[in-house]
Amino acid sequence: MEAYNPQSAPEPGSWLELDEQERIDLVESWHRAAHVKLPNVTAHAALHTVVENQIAMNLEPVVRAVHRLTNGGLTRHDAIHAIGSVVAEQFFDILTTEQRDEVDASQAHYLAAVERLTVTSWRQG
Ligand SMILES: [Zn+2]
Repeated sequence: MEAYNPQSAPEPGSWLELDEQERIDLVESWHRAAHVKLPNVTAHAALHTVVENQIAMNLEPVVRAVHRLTNGGLTRHDAIHAIGSVVAEQFFDILTTEQRDEVDASQAHYLAAVERLTVTSWRQG
């Protein structure tokens, strides 16, 4: 896999073959080439990568959310951002949690939040 483009899903096998840093680098390169203005392009790319990993691994609530959001009018790229915003919240949960069962609960929370994500809820921030 030579390049990443958020408007089309990377082929799952080729994507998962890369190591995490290579994935982040590809995502970062695309944003730099597209001159997307971002406060922190590396953090942004890391969130993209988490979402793309979940899609490539066919995590159903995430796959469904991408379809729902793009059918609702978002570009695939914005759908990734919308799901990434939920990932960011879950990271914060995990960072502030010490109990293993709370980490599991946080994963369940994440999936439930992804299921609730709609174009309207995303646009309202
Ligand atoms: Zn992006």
